[in-house]
Amino acid sequence: SKPLLHVNELGKVFGSRSMFRKNEFRAVHDVSFRLEQGEVLAIVGESGSGKSTIARMLTNLIPATSGDIMYGGQSLRRDKRLGRKLPTFVQMIFQDPFAALNPHHTIGYIVGRPLLVQRQWKGDTRPKVLELLQKVGLTPAEDFIDKYPYQLSGGQKQRVMIAKVLGLAPKVIVADEPTSMLDVSIGVDIMNLLLDLKSQEQLALILITHNLGSAKYMADRIMVMYAGQMVEYGPAEQVIGEPLHPYTKLLIYSSPDPWRDASLTMEIIDPQGMEIPKTGCAFHHRCPHAGDACRTKSVAVTKLGGERQVRCHLYT
Ligand code: SF4
Ligand code: MG
Repeated sequence: SKPLLHVNELGKVFGSRSMFRKNEFRAVHDVSFRLEQGEVLAIVGESGSGKSTIARMLTNLIPATSGDIMYGGQSLRRDKRLGRKLPTFVQMIFQDPFAALNPHHTIGYIVGRPLLVQRQWKGDTRPKVLELLQKVGLTPAEDFIDKYPYQLSGGQKQRVMIAKVLGLAPKVIVADEPTSMLDVSIGVDIMNLLLDLKSQEQLALILITHNLGSAKYMADRIMVMYAGQMVEYGPAEQVIGEPLHPYTKLLIYSSPDPWRDASLTMEIIDPQGMEIPKTGCAFHHRCPHAGDACRTKSVAVTKLGGERQVRCHLYT
């Protein structure tokens, strides 16, 4: 059977090329993965690693430059009708619940309106909205439906976002740093809500994060991104417990206890603004194992047993 989501050699280049000048930035290069119902994939990476660009391509907010995205075997690039049906396949939850909700509308309108627009519901949406608010833990729902966003806390706003997205009954939810603007304990509540809903609603979840702790907590599989490339991929417990790529190792071993330290973030060890090398492995200027081949030869992905993949000359 066709996987729920199949991403094949996905790439994105921003910028322009003219006769005199090439002004291009390769944000994502050669990213492939599959996702089935009930699975959680975490895409982890520091800012600029390409993870948010992947999220925006998955939800068709920006087109891919190369490769393909397939939902239930239908290609987003080739099948124009899929674009219209897409909101019922995939929905996105953003980092900032404060910016994502229109301050002039009630919660009832915010959650109810997309149901009418996407023809998921006919007539009065109020009963359906109450049911959705209940599902995301905004109870009693009657107390929330007529409120405005400013009357809610950050965590409650993120729950409204999740209710709005759930109303469209998507098969995949892409959550881009859904808890990074919330207090830690509220963030954990939101993560638990997403995990519960994933099981109840039979969703697949893609968590975009720079936080290895949340990836470990949430995900079945982890993809580590570096400079627009997937450098490591595999079952979460293996990637964290037995990392292969020197970048993943650096991330994990620089933490006192990666299994406990939920605050472990990529930014800690990443010197911002460091130039990414144009030849060879994109990580060679920071890698303790870099040899001659690493400086000159680009690196392909090696597929190992048990679904593991790594992009490093040490494994070719
Ligand atoms: Fe390090 Fe070479 Fe592997 Fe790149 S390819 S991560 S430089 S060992
Ligand atoms: Mg981002």
